[in-house]
Amino acid sequence: MKTHEIRRKFLEFFEQKNHYVRKSYSVIPQNDPSLLLIGAGMAPLKPYFTGEKKPPAPRMATSQKCIRTPDIEEVGKTARHATFFEMLGNFSFGDYFKRDAILWAYEFCTEVLELEPKRVWGSVYFEDDEAYDIWTKEVGLPHERMVRLGKEDNFWEIGTGPCGPCSEIYYDRGEEYGCEDHDCKPGCECDRYLEMWNLVFTQFNLDEKGNYTTLEQKNIDTGAGLERLAVVMQDVPSIYEIDIIKPILDHICKLSRIEYGNDDESDVSLRIVTEHLRSVVVMIGDGVLPSNEGRGYVLRRILRRASRHGKLLGIKDTFMSEGANLVIDILKDAYSELDERRDYITKIIELEEERFNKTIDQGIGILQDYIENIKENNQNMLSGADAFKLYDTYGFPLELTKEILQEEGLSVDEKDFERALSEQREQARKAQKDSGDMLTESTAMKEFKDIEVEFVGYDNLEGKGEIK
Ligand code: ATP
Ligand code: MG
Ligand code: MG
Ligand code: MG
Repeated sequence: MKTHEIRRKFLEFFEQKNHYVRKSYSVIPQNDPSLLLIGAGMAPLKPYFTGEKKPPAPRMATSQKCIRTPDIEEVGKTARHATFFEMLGNFSFGDYFKRDAILWAYEFCTEVLELEPKRVWGSVYFEDDEAYDIWTKEVGLPHERMVRLGKEDNFWEIGTGPCGPCSEIYYDRGEEYGCEDHDCKPGCECDRYLEMWNLVFTQFNLDEKGNYTTLEQKNIDTGAGLERLAVVMQDVPSIYEIDIIKPILDHICKLSRIEYGNDDESDVSLRIVTEHLRSVVVMIGDGVLPSNEGRGYVLRRILRRASRHGKLLGIKDTFMSEGANLVIDILKDAYSELDERRDYITKIIELEEERFNKTIDQGIGILQDYIENIKENNQNMLSGADAFKLYDTYGFPLELTKEILQEEGLSVDEKDFERALSEQREQARKAQKDSGDMLTESTAMKEFKDIEVEFVGYDNLEGKGEIK
C-alpha cells in the first residue's frame, strides 16, 4: 500500500467515525512560546485540550507535519527516526476516551491496513490497569504480547499543557531486525519492535511551575508515524526505502555515484542528506528562515549538516535545491502549499547552501588544523574560542563542529563557546547591527519582499479550516 493511500485511509477511517478532518497546521507554533517547532499532532491543538478555546468539533483527525530536532542524532542510524515526519492523529476533546481510542486503533491496524494480528504488540503505562484490561479483555491481545513501561516511554508531555499516560502499538518485524538480546521486547531500542502508534490519554495539565492537575475534560490524543506505517505495509527495512523517500535516496546516490548498501559510513551520509532535505523543504515552506537563533538556527543546522554530508559523499556542486524540487514533487499532493511556494523554497535553500559553500572548505581545513594540534598536544578538547571562530567566521553551527570532533573522539568546550557567543550578542545589541554576512531573516526577507506578504496572509489563515 502506497504511503499516500495510508494517509488517506487513516483520515477517511476517522472521518467515518465522525471526526472533523483538518489539513496540517504549520510547523511554526502559533501563540505557544513553550515550543520552537511543532513536534506532534496534538501540539497545535493544545488550547482545545486545555479548554482554553472551543474546538471546531469534539473529534478531530489530522496528518500533521512534525519537526523533531531532538531526534537528529538518530537520523541515518536507526531505521525509524527522522527530523521531519508526518504524524497521523485522532483526537477527542472531552468526548470519547480510552476504550474507543484503543478499539479503533486496533481496528484500523488489523482491518483497514490488514496487519497480521499475531505481530501486533501493545504497551501501557505500568500503573494503567484500565488500559491493560481493555487490550487484553476487549481487544483480546494475549498477555504475552503486552508490556508495562515506565514514565520515560509511556507518559506523554510536551512543554507545558495537557499530558497523561499512554499506550503504544508495536509491530514485530521479526528476529532479523532484532538485537543480541533474543528475548527483547517492545521498549528495546533495536528495530525489531517498531513503535507505530502512541495513544495518549490526556487527563492532566502541567503548568509552568511543574504542577500536574486533573483536567476537567478527559481527552484522547493519538499519533501514528506515517512513514513507519509505510515501512510495515511495504515490508521494507527502514523509512528510507518507502515509496515517498526512496526516490530521494536514489537521487542522492546518483549524484554522488555511490551505491546504497555497500558501506556503512556512506549509507549514514546518504540517509542524512535524504532525510534532512525533506525537513528543510517543509520548514522553509512554512516560513522558517535560516538564522542564528531559534527555529532559524534549527533549520540552518539541519541544512548545513546535509550540505556537509553531501560533501562527504563527494558531491561537488550545490545540490540541495534540485533535491528539494524532488521532495516537493512527491509531497505536493498532500501538502499543496509546498508546490505553491516551490520557487521561494528552492531559492532560500540555494542561497543558504551557496553561503555555506563559500566557507565550508576553508572552515573544515581550519578545523583539521585544530584537530591535529589538539592531538599533538595530547588533549581532547577544542577551545570555545576556536569553536566560536568556526561559527562566526565560517558559519559552522556548534553541533556541526561537535559532530566532526566526535568522529575523531574529541569534544568542545561548550561553556567557553557560550561565553564567546553571548559576548558577541551583547556587542551586536550595542552596535544594533546585523550579524555579518549570514543570511538572516531580515536579509532574506529583503530579497523576497513580495513573498513575505504572502506568508503573513498564510499565518492569518491558521485555524480557520471549515468543517467538511
Ligand atoms: P520512539 O520511541 O521510536 O523514539 P516516540 O515514543 O518518541 O518514538 P511518540 O512521541 O510517541 O514517539 O510519537 C508518536 C508516533 O510518532 C510514534 O509512535 C512514531 O510512530 C512516530 N514518531 C515519533 N518520532 C518519530 C521520528 N523521529 N521519526 C518518525 N516517526 C516518529
Ligand atoms: Mg522518540
Ligand atoms: Mg517510544
Ligand atoms: Mg511513543
